[in-house]
Amino acid sequence: MSNFSPGTGALISTVEVATQATIDAAVASAQAAFPAWSALSGAERGRILTRAAVLIREYNSEMSLLESVDAGIPVSETEFVQVLGGADCFEYYGGLASNACVTGQMMDTPHAGGHKDSFCYTRREPLGVCAGIGAWNYPVLVMSWKVAPALACGNTFVYKPSECTPLTALKIAEILKEAGLPDGVFNVVVGDRTTGPMLTRHSDVKKLSFTGSTETGIRIVKEAAETLKKVTMELGGKSPLLVFEDADVDNAVGAAMMSNWYTQGEICSNATRVFVHKSVKEEFVRKLVERTKQLKVGDPLDPSTHVGAMIMPPDNKTGHMDRVVGYIERAKADPRNKLILGGNTHTIEVAGGKGGSGNEGCYVEPTIFECSDDNSELVKEEVFGPVMSILEFEDEADAVERANDTVYGLGAGIMTNNLARAHRVAKQFQSGNVWINNYNLTPSEMPFGGYGMSGYGRECGTYAIDNYTQIKNVYVEMGDVDSSCYP
Ligand code: NAD
Repeated sequence: MSNFSPGTGALISTVEVATQATIDAAVASAQAAFPAWSALSGAERGRILTRAAVLIREYNSEMSLLESVDAGIPVSETEFVQVLGGADCFEYYGGLASNACVTGQMMDTPHAGGHKDSFCYTRREPLGVCAGIGAWNYPVLVMSWKVAPALACGNTFVYKPSECTPLTALKIAEILKEAGLPDGVFNVVVGDRTTGPMLTRHSDVKKLSFTGSTETGIRIVKEAAETLKKVTMELGGKSPLLVFEDADVDNAVGAAMMSNWYTQGEICSNATRVFVHKSVKEEFVRKLVERTKQLKVGDPLDPSTHVGAMIMPPDNKTGHMDRVVGYIERAKADPRNKLILGGNTHTIEVAGGKGGSGNEGCYVEPTIFECSDDNSELVKEEVFGPVMSILEFEDEADAVERANDTVYGLGAGIMTNNLARAHRVAKQFQSGNVWINNYNLTPSEMPFGGYGMSGYGRECGTYAIDNYTQIKNVYVEMGDVDSSCYP
């Protein structure tokens, strides 16, 4: 399978697609490693994960370059946010490992007729072999959010990165080994869309954590049901950002930019529906357009680039860009939308492209539409590119209702200086994540996940421990067995 660089269109690697035998071998290797890994103390496991965090930071330049070449994300993002975010995640769960599995509850269970000193306690125990299937949009983070908590809890792991971005998962496997992770505890299998189902169906895989589209997620849930696998679903979104009349407009513009242009718009939680109060809309749009015009779209490896290249799938290099452009062209033709900036693809000259000319990357300009109807295709569907819809509102209750009018529920944001309004609206959002006066920040401590068609289960924070442990209850009788009902 070919692996192309979105920035240039150049072939960067050729990857062997895993067969069923490869998957079986990876799962068997993880299963063989499980008894010894799960028997280590949490502190021993945590030490290895913490060492991995240190190494990821040491390899930041190499890792961020790999991530930018592979995923098209500007190196200014991969170097300062995404690789370091992966390191933070390993550090966080390294610190938590000695708590993650042992914390349970103790409950006194006295009841009428004796048993006055009996009690129960719970133990959190690992599940065994867990698997992860990842999306391509921020590969190091998608993987770290699954692997770090799973290993902290004493599970072993088989990870399949997206066919578009296999490189950094392989590098993290090397780093974990260098950090002292025993053989077999973490395994990477690379492949295409035929590979994931082999993990979903595998009877020795006890848990599957998936990040990707809602459509694929539904297919996986159905297949995983055959083996009653536990699943976590991190799926798509079409999130709202509400800018109220009392907001700091400059901050609101910053938040709208962070929630649309970051990673060239390829972020699941992006607030692509920006609802702006009528009284500040003119100022908001003017400032947004002014700042967006200054963005540099181009070579992901150029440190001055703000907006990188659209992902390049192995079987259809321009497939994702074409899909995004299709949304833009249909939106342009729809009288309910007014294009106010961008709307074009973009070509650049990058050394190293095909034939040396290097203008074969996939680039789309940051694009802004003002939209008059919440029900247009552009406002309803996930585009997964740098395309923002601006909508006007006048009334808080109406804005909240419109914000919630989506099948998704991954993120939502509110920009306001009114404390009571901020929390009132946060409570009403039908969404797994709410940001007040900012957007898209995802520290490792913060649980992340969706409502509705955006999925279920939570990654990150202590909540992720639920994904990777099962609870055993132990009842302890301190007195005699009361069998007086029998002769
Ligand atoms: P995708 O669903 O096309 O693919 C995701 C992964 O699933 C890939 O590794 C792919 O090989 C694998 N896959 C495909 N078909 C499969 C099957 N039948 N069984 C098992 N595995 C299968 O998604 P994508 O295009 O890689 O990613 C973009 C999507 O991911 C967007 O919808 C985005 O919103 C979502 N996403 C969600 C989050 C989140 O945390 N909620 C984060 C990032 C991306």
